[in-house]
Amino acid sequence: MKSFWNDSLARKYQKDALALRVYTSRLIGREPSLVLHGGGNTSVKHSIRDSFGKNIDVLYVKGSGWDLSTIEKEGFAPVRLDVLQRLAEFKTLSDSDMVKIQRSAMLDPYAPNPSVEAILHAIIPFKFVDHTHADAVVAVSNTPGGEKRIRDIYGSRVLLVPYVMPGFILARKIYEMTRRVDWKKLEGIVLLHHGIFTFDDDAKKSYQNMIRLVSKAEGYLKKKGCRITSGRRIRKTIEAPKDLLELASLRRAVARAAGIPMIALWDTGPNQLALSKLSGLRRVASQGPLTPDHIIRTKRIPVVLGRDFEKDVLTFVSDYKKYFNRFASSRHTRLDSAPRWAVWPQKGTIAFGKSAKDAGIVSDIARHTSRAILWAERLGGWRALPPKELFEMEYWELEQAKIKKVKGAPVFQGKVALVTGAASGIGRACVEALYAQGAAVAALDIDPGIQKMFQQESVLGIMCDVTNPRSVDNAISAAIRRFGGLDILITNAGTFPPSERIAEMKPKTWQKSLEINLSGHQRMLQACVPYLSLGIDPSVVVVGSKNVPAPGPGVSAYSVAKAGLTQLARVAALELAPAGIRVNVIHPNQVFDTAIWTREVLEKRARHYGMSVAAYKTNNLLKTEITSQNVADLICVMAGPVFAKTTGSQIPIDGGNERVI
Ligand code: ZN
Repeated sequence: MKSFWNDSLARKYQKDALALRVYTSRLIGREPSLVLHGGGNTSVKHSIRDSFGKNIDVLYVKGSGWDLSTIEKEGFAPVRLDVLQRLAEFKTLSDSDMVKIQRSAMLDPYAPNPSVEAILHAIIPFKFVDHTHADAVVAVSNTPGGEKRIRDIYGSRVLLVPYVMPGFILARKIYEMTRRVDWKKLEGIVLLHHGIFTFDDDAKKSYQNMIRLVSKAEGYLKKKGCRITSGRRIRKTIEAPKDLLELASLRRAVARAAGIPMIALWDTGPNQLALSKLSGLRRVASQGPLTPDHIIRTKRIPVVLGRDFEKDVLTFVSDYKKYFNRFASSRHTRLDSAPRWAVWPQKGTIAFGKSAKDAGIVSDIARHTSRAILWAERLGGWRALPPKELFEMEYWELEQAKIKKVKGAPVFQGKVALVTGAASGIGRACVEALYAQGAAVAALDIDPGIQKMFQQESVLGIMCDVTNPRSVDNAISAAIRRFGGLDILITNAGTFPPSERIAEMKPKTWQKSLEINLSGHQRMLQACVPYLSLGIDPSVVVVGSKNVPAPGPGVSAYSVAKAGLTQLARVAALELAPAGIRVNVIHPNQVFDTAIWTREVLEKRARHYGMSVAAYKTNNLLKTEITSQNVADLICVMAGPVFAKTTGSQIPIDGGNERVI
């Protein structure tokens, strides 16, 4: 394992203990084989002056909810050191009482809750304390004879602690084990099945000790023929349609089991593929997680897929309920019974989450878990903690308390939308509105700039020409590959042809408009139907035009295409209703903040009608201006639960038009 320590950088922080603590915490956070997504914790003991000028010894310890890779000074909670040390003398203490006492001993009331390992950090008599869930160390301990192997690797200079629950029980255990220990002789503490601690009065030495001890475990694994490389998250863009349909059906089954929509992220990285090809796959997959706190994200075990994905998920659900009933008491509230990741034999793993980010976190954990399982299999077999210990972690009172705090979810959380014509105007506004309301969005446009337009993990920009069937198929495949399915289609891509009366109509003008404004939508809708049929409350919103009910002279190429499109949507509403897919049409008018309406065009049109630009822009019954954002907001409503019972409708958004009313 590589040390990221940089002397010249560290020197800058030498005079500020907390700044130095932030620096070395981030070094640890940078290495996913040490900690993943909020795992691990660090601390520094320091003396600070209170409001009355009195010096107080505090433990600055990582606050819960912070991630070591991005932690700031504000991420550390200053807790009175003497209070924490005295807590270790308690015989018993519930974790919620522990949190309460720790909070009341904080010198900054706005700081986050101290890590649950704060007491343990406090009783380690060194200034800097580092704790990680290093893959290599934990994996070696998760094997038959794991304890002996760890002993062989480290000898007696490392204290070995059998597994107990993190939090007060662990702190108390180590307090008892170390009462007569000469700390100077210890280089670290290995918590079997959990992680590792290093410490020193010098920040660099504590960090370097961590790297050195973890490297020893990696060296041991290498000697046993294990591959250490972790591989990256891999998302190939094109897959066989059959696989993608199966993926979408799995996503729907998991979402139904969870009771909420979910994103499904298929990962075909080398470790996941190797895991999915393992001969003892069912045995290893029934064991448990790499380190217990992963269970909060991943559940105890993944679902191993067979021939019938829906049946596999149902079996998982019933097994999960049995596991809950076996260990639960009346104070426990059962979590949903759906799996959080799946192993697809020969094809990798699939992670589920209520957002692309959450699914990504699960996927990262699955990747590291897969690698650890492969290592452990070379050492005689993967042995995780027994289900009872894992249940205690999954249903820890501090975790249970969080369930009660959950607020209402955004309306499209876990849903997947696809928007065409997404680089500007109404399409772009739809992408932003859907994303803001929690959806993962595939944003399609012919403009290659679309691929880099959105930085969010939940938005995937894909170049797509709706007049090209292959381009349409590829774009949809990329969207399914990335998010696991499709629930909402906003078919919007369009073009506004030059004004030509029928007598002067150029064949090219006519054909191009029909190709983009009519056939492009038909192509997209047709290609999306198989996935929408496997979607969650699936719905289509077709962007029509006021020109359909109220055409004007000179725009037949546009009006006819949009009228045809509206008719297509009506037939689609009839045909797709049995599959539960709603199809509704929105007819916008005078949306002037789009690319077509340059200042010049606006002025020209206003002059044509003998109006000022301002009057022209609000030329409707309500005398109001209609923006892309207004249209996108209504489209979201039509795609969402408010329109759950409506299909085949045509809704205008035009400020009121007497020709239409
Ligand atoms: Zn830990």
